[in-house]
Amino acid sequence: MAGSFSILPLCMARIYDPCKSTLALRKRKRFLLSQLKVYPDALRASLVERFSRCGKANCRCHHGGPKHGPFYYLTQCLAVGKVNKFLLKSAAQQQSARAAIEHYRQLQEQLEELSQINTELLRREENLGHG
Ligand SMILES: [Zn+2]
Repeated sequence: MAGSFSILPLCMARIYDPCKSTLALRKRKRFLLSQLKVYPDALRASLVERFSRCGKANCRCHHGGPKHGPFYYLTQCLAVGKVNKFLLKSAAQQQSARAAIEHYRQLQEQLEELSQINTELLRREENLGHG
């Protein structure tokens, strides 16, 4: 389980290789369109892992001992400075969040590549309306 989560920088797009023939771009576009899948659980958010100190002053966590955790939080940026964040209490909830976030990420990646191909096709004065 450890290490399988990540904080995804959702504002940053991967840059796909535009140095392809128009034919190759169209072929890739057709492939992408055939692969596109919207999973019902798709969810845009990040999973963050936290260790924390508790409220008991005499607890080991206040005296050099290990902190409590890990605790997993779902964080979702809705607007600048507006973040939706809550604790994922159960292992099942954490697993659902991991899968849902990954499904959203996959879809976003596919759409981003499609968008970059369409941008390049537009630059080449190609028709965008078909595969
Ligand atoms: Zn403690």
